[in-house]
Amino acid sequence: MPQWPMAILGLCLSLGAHAQGITAVLRQSQQRLLEALPLAAAGPRADTVQRSFEQLCQALGIATELHLRVVTGPVVAEAMLGHVVLANETLADAPEGARLFILAHEIGHLVAQDWQAMNSLYLRWIPGEVTPAHTDPVANDLGREASALAHQQELAADAYALHSLRRLGWHTSDAVEAFLLLGRELTHDTATHPSTRRRLALLRGWPSSVLQTDTTGL
Ligand SMILES: [Zn+2]
Repeated sequence: MPQWPMAILGLCLSLGAHAQGITAVLRQSQQRLLEALPLAAAGPRADTVQRSFEQLCQALGIATELHLRVVTGPVVAEAMLGHVVLANETLADAPEGARLFILAHEIGHLVAQDWQAMNSLYLRWIPGEVTPAHTDPVANDLGREASALAHQQELAADAYALHSLRRLGWHTSDAVEAFLLLGRELTHDTATHPSTRRRLALLRGWPSSVLQTDTTGL
């Protein structure tokens, strides 16, 4: 679940004079985050996470090449670079339905091409080189727009994950359990994520018409 829009905005602002475009800066930033997290040791926990991921990809008919990276460290799960799902090995200890929901949420980000959409947004605000002269004047508006898009993307990924879970015979309560593991902000929106309370309300009351349609494109 990307924390990156605001973090990357901060990064852009701290880079100073920089001969690169925003797309390269965003990609390098994600790559650094990805490489900073140690890979989990091969073994039963990594295998369990891998099996759940493969089960989902198969059940959802994912045609594109997605890559799972099972890691240790502070991140529970995150979609990165448009094709990688980072998943913590501790997800192996979670109830299966919650694990599937969390992985499906990240797959949802990738299937919906959220990374590409966020890149396009940044590029629209910073079309030239990433320098304070280009980023300072737009930082507030860019931040607001990126935050709004990030919230939309989170809720859509939740809907996708719930749809996926139901397709596999699980229930909304299994999705709700996933939020206990994530331990996110309960009552307040953050820059990148709607509050858990808002996300749960949408999960519990999501219109059936949405869940019955194929939400692969969300
Ligand atoms: Zn997310």
